[in-house]
Amino acid sequence: MTIPLIRVEEVSKIFPVGGVFGAKKYIKAVDNVNLEIGENEILALVGESGCGKSTLGKLMLALLKPSSGSILYYINHKYKDVWSLKGEEFREYRRNAQLIPQDPYSTLNPMKKVISALTPPLLRYKIARNRREAKKMAAELLEMVGLSPPEDFFERFPCRLSGGQLQRIAIARAISVKPKFIVADEAVSMLDASLRIEILNLLLNIRKRLKTAYLFITHDFAIARYFARNERIAVMYLGNIVEMGRTEEIIQNPLHPYTQTLLATVPIPDPKLARKRELPKLRSLEIPSLISPPPGCKFNTRCPYAESICEEKTPELREVKGRLVACHLF
Ligand code: SF4
Repeated sequence: MTIPLIRVEEVSKIFPVGGVFGAKKYIKAVDNVNLEIGENEILALVGESGCGKSTLGKLMLALLKPSSGSILYYINHKYKDVWSLKGEEFREYRRNAQLIPQDPYSTLNPMKKVISALTPPLLRYKIARNRREAKKMAAELLEMVGLSPPEDFFERFPCRLSGGQLQRIAIARAISVKPKFIVADEAVSMLDASLRIEILNLLLNIRKRLKTAYLFITHDFAIARYFARNERIAVMYLGNIVEMGRTEEIIQNPLHPYTQTLLATVPIPDPKLARKRELPKLRSLEIPSLISPPPGCKFNTRCPYAESICEEKTPELREVKGRLVACHLF
């Protein structure tokens, strides 16, 4: 990996829940996470919905403030906590860290035409010198994301675009400011299967052209494997990273019992191989509540290999066979 662009250090995020009529409770959506992403690198973050993936993405974009720990960004030859950045440095970070959301419609103003969604960031960050140049750049962006001829899209409102076209506009807007880091949060999960590969390839081409790094959030291991081939995957369970390493090594030989469980749900096209596959026999299918997670290893209520230590002690993420695993078995 090149020099890390963003470092997540012992980051936790706690949200209060309830409290109007009853006692206030808290959920730890992200629990003591450490990771880093280098320039032009992809890290696919995989886990079931509600495990804290999107919260971690928002923390890395400084859209949420950590309850503890730091998000460090490499700027002017040193790492600085993103919440300590001010003035020009904060503007630069905001420009360099962009989001591609799951639902592009939610981030586009339904009252504004496509051209009005694309040109303001170009002018705000002085990438274009004037409106004419901004319009020319917007046309190039639309061509780049496969919306051609661009003039056909400039005057359209979001309601007159398909889901795939909307997602392409959201991508065009995110890359318009030439970011160094993109959080793609379930960016293809709302699209038809036929469109998914097209959009994934588009994101990969953008990475080649702009040298962008990605945190690619998905619940789907097959998609993570496609997008992060030759890169890294991190597996998240109830707010913790439980395994992180090279994509193919994890897929060929998952070590953490939760990774094994997730991978067992990925369809295998060959029926013979599918019949041979052994699924881990979970003790329970129920995912524990984040309000009162089990003590020790949070997977202990479901894990087929749980022992007494698993209820007593939280396993640390430590190096095992060239990757990181949080499990007492290792
Ligand atoms: Fe299972 Fe124990 Fe490992 Fe947790 S620490 S995954 S409960 S064996």
